[in-house]
Amino acid sequence: MASQEIEALSGALARLPGLGPRSARRAVLWLVKNRESALPALLESLAAVSETLLECATCGNVDTRDPCGICADPRRDARALCVVEDVADLWALDRARLFPGRYHVLGGKLSALDGIGPEDLNIASLMERVSQGDVDEVVLAMNATLEGQTTAHYLAERLAEHAVRITQLAHGLPVGGELDYLDEGTLAQALRARRPME
Ligand code: ZN
Repeated sequence: MASQEIEALSGALARLPGLGPRSARRAVLWLVKNRESALPALLESLAAVSETLLECATCGNVDTRDPCGICADPRRDARALCVVEDVADLWALDRARLFPGRYHVLGGKLSALDGIGPEDLNIASLMERVSQGDVDEVVLAMNATLEGQTTAHYLAERLAEHAVRITQLAHGLPVGGELDYLDEGTLAQALRARRPME
């Protein structure tokens, strides 16, 4: 039976997405074995992140500064806005610099089942950004799930009153596919072949 401290660490790690209790225990064992080589760097990173992480007030990205690196980058095309459900989707698209514009993170998707309505997402701030008139194209890069597509259609309706081109990622995304899990080639193809929202 492990000590209280080890149980606590395992429990904390097991709450991370993608890790269950078993993976968490393996991670703890790995940390014990590599305590001298890996632990100091990990502690330093965790401390740095906990002190400096911010949510960008403009787009909802997570970064160490606000506005975030993407919003502050003058080389980014401010006239193209890619709307994603979560920060993980933004990072997936931006890993390979697939999109030259800027982003807007909704912070989730509409879900009647979970009681998530438009007011629970960053939709008002999206409308605000678009109504300022600096945006030509809004790419709705929702996941290919039922709720993702419901969200995309809702946004397309709301955006219709503005003079912007509304596009969505090309089909060919696997149904149920979450952007975060797609390889860069598939994402690049979906983005390149994006088409007007129907
Ligand atoms: Zn930002």
